[in-house]
Amino acid sequence: MRRAHKILSPREEAELPPRPVTKKGGLLLINAGEIATMAGHDRPRRGEQMKDLALIPEGAIYAMNGKIVEVGDSRMLERKYSGSSTVIDAEGDIVVPGFVDPHTHLVFAGSRENELELKLRGATYQEIAASGGGLLSTVAKTRAATTEELIGEASSRLRGMREEGTTTAEAKSGYALDSNGELKILAAIETLSERQPIHLVPTFLGAHAVPPEFEGKADAYIDLLVNEMLQLVARRTAARFCDVWVEQGYFSVEQARRLLLQAKLLGLTPKVHADELTACGGAELAGEMEAASADHLIHVSDGGLEAMKDAGTVAVLLPAASMSSRLPYADARKIITAGVPVAVGTDLNPGCWVESMQFVVSLAVHQLRMTPAEAVTAATINAAHAIGLAREVGSIEPGKSADFVVLDTDRLGHIGYRFGRNMAELVVKAGNVVVDRRAR
Ligand SMILES: [Zn+2]
Repeated sequence: MRRAHKILSPREEAELPPRPVTKKGGLLLINAGEIATMAGHDRPRRGEQMKDLALIPEGAIYAMNGKIVEVGDSRMLERKYSGSSTVIDAEGDIVVPGFVDPHTHLVFAGSRENELELKLRGATYQEIAASGGGLLSTVAKTRAATTEELIGEASSRLRGMREEGTTTAEAKSGYALDSNGELKILAAIETLSERQPIHLVPTFLGAHAVPPEFEGKADAYIDLLVNEMLQLVARRTAARFCDVWVEQGYFSVEQARRLLLQAKLLGLTPKVHADELTACGGAELAGEMEAASADHLIHVSDGGLEAMKDAGTVAVLLPAASMSSRLPYADARKIITAGVPVAVGTDLNPGCWVESMQFVVSLAVHQLRMTPAEAVTAATINAAHAIGLAREVGSIEPGKSADFVVLDTDRLGHIGYRFGRNMAELVVKAGNVVVDRRAR
């Protein structure tokens, strides 16, 4: 649905691809060297399952009305669907599902490049905050921005994400920390999801930090979240998840539990920013709350992993955040061995400005020591599970949204092995070509 008010400049409008249009006759992709379908599992992949890409050599995909109808042998499908109105010849290249980014703080105002040199000199979060920077400086700018301004800034980032092959993403609020501002961000996310190809799943992160007017009174801020903001979010927005940062100086396990219990009553599924800076019980709480995901997990305990495994909670690892904040990398090998399904995401935010899931896949391989197959699983089907969309996206299977990426390589092993160059040549979302870099 189009909103009545103007939300993008004409130049930005012109740069957006057309709204998805169903073409009579469907879309046929032929001659893929290999298709990593990720088909065959209903639950998030764990352990050895993360290495199974369910490959189809010399494959083809036929899609109609935005959905995948059939995936199989290229010569067979070429004969069967010869009347397709759009035919894409992959010329032996590798095809993967559209990337699913399960953790972004997409909507914010301004940028924080001025903090970089402080960070490089080893300044702590607290020192950066004392110099007028950090999360709360983004809160001040985001509170002052209009919905249109927020949409304009986020649109540019979404174009970057799409160019790199992301077709679905989670997007969190959390840079206003007051009722009107959080509703403004969630409205911006909904509008953005309608106006460009990447499908966005909104998450309410009112408990991202204690706002300045509640300094030293985190319990009182939780009261406001529980008694007022959650109700407004549940009634007036499409938010699907409620997230909270459990960390010293942010919110305690007890405060987060109070918030998430109320969120569940209102139909929002919990997520937790857990164990990023210290081991503080975030993963244990995520398991106890049956959260969809626990994210970061740099300092996760064995007990935390056990709780997540029992609850079916997905571990969302964010290696770009470790890189940009000069923190240790999460121990992905230990988490996979423990039987907890792993997904990866960008954590796109003003302190970790990365739009590319391909770059995150490379970090997962080179820094988290995941194999390329595990990293692709983590960036597609497991990421879809982490945001509750595994029935719609994350794999190339009949009935799912026709979301896939043709990569500029004929070798599967080049994914994650190579980095620093965008290999997404062609991006298809819901059966429509939304990026075509082969024509350039
Ligand atoms: Zn985050």
